[in-house]
Amino acid sequence: MKPKVAFFDFACCEGCQLQIANLEEEILGVVALVDLVEFREVLTGHAPEYDITFIEGSITRPEDEERLKDIRKRSKILIAFGACATTGGVNKIKNLRNLETVRKEVYQDDWNKPHLNTAPTKAVDEVVKVDYYLHGCPINRNEFLSVVKDLAMGKVPRIPDYPVCVECKLRENECLYDLGKTCLGPIARAGCAAICPSNKSGCEACRGTVPNPNKNAMHEVLAKRNLTVEAIIQEFTMFAVNPEVSK
Ligand code: SF4
Ligand code: SF4
Ligand code: SF4
Repeated sequence: MKPKVAFFDFACCEGCQLQIANLEEEILGVVALVDLVEFREVLTGHAPEYDITFIEGSITRPEDEERLKDIRKRSKILIAFGACATTGGVNKIKNLRNLETVRKEVYQDDWNKPHLNTAPTKAVDEVVKVDYYLHGCPINRNEFLSVVKDLAMGKVPRIPDYPVCVECKLRENECLYDLGKTCLGPIARAGCAAICPSNKSGCEACRGTVPNPNKNAMHEVLAKRNLTVEAIIQEFTMFAVNPEVSK
């Protein structure tokens, strides 16, 4: 029997689900392997239980925590899907500020209406157990296809846990630090083929950081420029990069 697969979204732009909805002919390969039972962007169906559940978005309200816990209870395997879900993503920037000020800036005169409540942003695994992570903002479609195929065949998906610098060097790019720019590549989790530095833009670590960045950073790149992990982290806040909160 094919595994039942569901997608659910929380606070996010839904760009990661859109990557899947736009798979075009490749989606046929996915549909052949799994039974897609819930996916609000492309289906109207529902099911009570799921073999594999993808969670997109971060958790920003108490009622979202309850909904997520209920989905977890009904899911055999749960996958955090995209930066909002895996690390809190761009939504976590608000945690760096006073929440009442943030609400007033966004909602102006309506800021105190009850349906516009908010709480510090949490990644999915700050609320429930997560079995696997699909990183990136947005996720990488090929990585998604490979993870679905692995799980459908009962294999453990392999997610890169080494720094972006490794992929950047394989592409023989000139290091951005040599061009006077900054880049989180030494501590950022790879898997995107170093797409940003390859286009002369510093990596913001949308895929989170490598496990134990102090130990597993690309020290060769850092040492050559007298940099430390702490010093480069200070430069970036888009994905709330902090080894204590990133995966
Ligand atoms: S990770 Fe990026 S693309 Fe995906 S839902 Fe969040 S903001 Fe959108
Ligand atoms: S620091 Fe950035 S630009 Fe330099 S090698 Fe690493 S990923 Fe590439
Ligand atoms: S280079 Fe960095 S910011 Fe760009 S896609 Fe890769 S991990 Fe994300």
